[in-house]
Amino acid sequence: MKNKKWSILFLLLILSMIIFCLGVLLYDNNQNEVDQSAGSAAKSDTTSKSQKEASESAAQKEALPEGQLTDWNLVLVNKTHSVENTAPSLVTLANGFQVLDQIQTPVETLINAAQADGIELKFVSAYRSVEEQQAVVSSVINQNISAGMSEADAKSAAMSVLTEPGYSEHHTGLAIDLVDTTYYQNTPNDLLNEAYADTDSAKWLAENAPKYGFILRYPKGKEAETGINFEPWHYRYVGVEHAMYITQNNLTLEAYIKKLQEAGR
Ligand SMILES: [Zn+2]
Repeated sequence: MKNKKWSILFLLLILSMIIFCLGVLLYDNNQNEVDQSAGSAAKSDTTSKSQKEASESAAQKEALPEGQLTDWNLVLVNKTHSVENTAPSLVTLANGFQVLDQIQTPVETLINAAQADGIELKFVSAYRSVEEQQAVVSSVINQNISAGMSEADAKSAAMSVLTEPGYSEHHTGLAIDLVDTTYYQNTPNDLLNEAYADTDSAKWLAENAPKYGFILRYPKGKEAETGINFEPWHYRYVGVEHAMYITQNNLTLEAYIKKLQEAGR
């Protein structure tokens, strides 16, 4: 009888120990789950943090480069903005063409980079004074009159292909018209033609000129913004950061300047 009583007590003891152990195990499991969820919460914190960082760096990439609208390299000359500085400080390049002295190094670097890639760039035009532009316009008008046109017709025909004196970007010394030596030799009479776009040098320029601070100033399909037909030979210096931004974002100088204005620059 006494033994049986002890056996029952012993069994109860064993049972309570088992229940206690199970309880501890269950509690531990819960703890683990809590720890795990805490871990995943921490993990998701890290994820959202890195996502935030990624979006911040994307915003930085999209951020406008430093620069003010009054900067010398952002001057706008187009059909509605005449040139203000009609006597820029010029330098004569080895090829005889004149550019604004501040772009001598970028121009020479561009020429050398092309040469290193097997492309011999050939200048067709660079700086042109307002007087030179006037002389070109007058000469074409006179040719048209000699060909039998009335004075009015001669003038309107000339101005359909020429820029009004005072309104050409070439007056700034920041614009260059360039092709390559082979194209220049093979296309003597119709040099500045859209067909130039299909040449290796035009493709090289479109891809590489922005790295040296130059933009394709009159892109195809942007005639409404620039007021000028596609000119695969006309490049304009704006500086490397502006050129890269304008090119990567498929902008014209007009659209870029509008963006700067909106940003309060
Ligand atoms: Zn030009």
